Amino acid sequence: MINRPIIFKSSGRGGPIGQQLLYRAIQRPVAAAALLVGGGLTLGLGIGVAGNLAMHAQLQQQRAEVAATQQEAQREINALAARLGELQAEANRLNALGERLTRIGQLQDGEFDFNKPVGVGGDEGAIEDMPREALDDELASLDMQFRHAGGQLSVLESLLFNRQLDMASVPAGEPIDSYITSHYGYRADPFRGGRKFHAGIDFEADVGDPVKAVADGVVSFAGNKSGYGYTVEIDHGNGFMTRYAHNSRLVRKVGEPIRAGQEIAKAGSTGRSTGAHVHFEVWQDGRAVNPRQFLGQRSPLTG
Ligand SMILES: [Zn+2]
Repeated sequence: MINRPIIFKSSGRGGPIGQQLLYRAIQRPVAAAALLVGGGLTLGLGIGVAGNLAMHAQLQQQRAEVAATQQEAQREINALAARLGELQAEANRLNALGERLTRIGQLQDGEFDFNKPVGVGGDEGAIEDMPREALDDELASLDMQFRHAGGQLSVLESLLFNRQLDMASVPAGEPIDSYITSHYGYRADPFRGGRKFHAGIDFEADVGDPVKAVADGVVSFAGNKSGYGYTVEIDHGNGFMTRYAHNSRLVRKVGEPIRAGQEIAKAGSTGRSTGAHVHFEVWQDGRAVNPRQFLGQRSPLTG
């Protein structure tokens, strides 16, 4: 009777596992307990070992990743170092250019010191990894050199540009290969007597002689002007304008760009004129000024 289950009806094919355990526990409680504890221990140990193994693998993987990242970073640093070398070469080129421009422009300005050598890392010996700090230092230094050279070059450029502009668009030379017959200033009025202000300079000319622009510019007037006859005016920018009057014929139209020395008209005696000549005026900032200060040295009358 004792071997028979009390609660459950015996079923030869066994029942659910829980029922069987319960059944066995009831039959052999100590063995069942031992089995349960032993199983738990084994399971616990197993879990422990497996966890260690997994952690170890994870550490290994992390180490490998860190190493790979470091390698990658170093590769990037080395690539940056190579780029740095190129930039240093570029800095050298800029300095050489600045030096050449300074020489061509004959600039005496002490501000320009393109001779200053650019620090270039030696490329002799085996290629070593460049330390990150050294790279940062070199980059900062190069950045400063670029700023310096860039600033100097832009100043130099504007200087040269202005000089070129000034040279081309400031009246210089004479409108005709001839000599002066009447100067700028007050003179006797050949028509009405008395004194009259002569706002320009007269050059002796024959009808048909070429009249030339004294500087680069754009034709701002070409036509008949009261008293002046057939007249050409050229705007040179920078506030300068020149006027050429009493021509027999005009050969340029308003808006045409003109280079210094180019023919703009044929000399004549149109307008209020006593004979063929070129009346030449220079205007600066809206006022007629003495053209003599702009004339070349070749005129026999300029003294
Ligand atoms: Zn005149």
